[in-house]
Amino acid sequence: MKKLLVISVVLGVVLAGSCAFAADSIGACIYKFDDTFMTGVRNAMKVEADKTGVELEVVDSQNKQPIQNDQVDAYISKGIDALILNPVDRTAAEPLMNKAKAEELPVVFVNREPYADVMNAYDKIWYVGAKAEESGTQSGELIADYFKAHPEADKNKDGKIQYIMLRGEQGHQDAVLRTDFSIKAMKDAGFELVELGSDTANWDKVQATDKMNGFISSAGIENIEAILANNDDMALGAIEALKAEGYNTGDPTKYIPVVGVDATAPALEAMKAGAMLGTVLNDAENQGIAAIRVAVKAADGEAVTEESIGYTITDGKYIWIPYRKVTSENYQQFMK
Ligand code: BGC
Repeated sequence: MKKLLVISVVLGVVLAGSCAFAADSIGACIYKFDDTFMTGVRNAMKVEADKTGVELEVVDSQNKQPIQNDQVDAYISKGIDALILNPVDRTAAEPLMNKAKAEELPVVFVNREPYADVMNAYDKIWYVGAKAEESGTQSGELIADYFKAHPEADKNKDGKIQYIMLRGEQGHQDAVLRTDFSIKAMKDAGFELVELGSDTANWDKVQATDKMNGFISSAGIENIEAILANNDDMALGAIEALKAEGYNTGDPTKYIPVVGVDATAPALEAMKAGAMLGTVLNDAENQGIAAIRVAVKAADGEAVTEESIGYTITDGKYIWIPYRKVTSENYQQFMK
């Protein structure tokens, strides 16, 4: 009798285990946790995963591609159902795609876009991001509009904009395209430009302060008429350097318009304080939500469609989340 009981209990447990609806498990790698914008995406992913009831594990790739490659291997041996990847080096995404392909594992790249040939080499691959050109255009327009409304911004009255460009990480599509398209937008608005300095600060606030200090020494702060940064952290880093010179602290004769991209909380605060001209919303929340929704549908073996995820899909695999211009008129609506 006792034996029978044991057998039936064991059987019951085994049956329950195999019949119970197992929650999808999703593994995500973020290029590094210490990135303001990606922290926003990561948080949004967690909230959406909790809402959906899927298991989400997120690991920090510590800005090292070999570490990320090992993390992907570990996820695969664990048997996850879908992978979300924010690659350290987007130009080296092919081996990651191949690892997923070999296992028929759906993979969703976010924020760092793999080359088209990698995206086209597998049918269970998606990219969630934003069109960098758009943010470049919008940030250039912010500066152009400011110069149109404030003729005194042309300090030396030469009819040209003397500007500094702080660029993101080399090779990142957002760094290249935001730089090019912001310059194009200012030119399209009819301005002649003089570049007083341009350098990468790797998306980083501290590096941007250092670079800006260098530009202040080489160009002279009184000659700088505008600062464009590929993201808000670098814009805020530049503002630190300006503040140390008594600029952008409230004295209208000591003001340089600074624009960034992302619309992070500290950038919106800087706008409120009058230290920063504007930014462009890089919608971390919707990028995080979209990544999870695609991963969940794909993990369930269901079709990933606009209806099933609630976002527009281009060419069957690209989910582009729109940017939005953030000005002194509308910044409050982006504050949480
Ligand atoms: C954001 C940056 C961020 C980078 C990380 C960009 O889209 O604007 O703030 O550092 O992505 O890859």
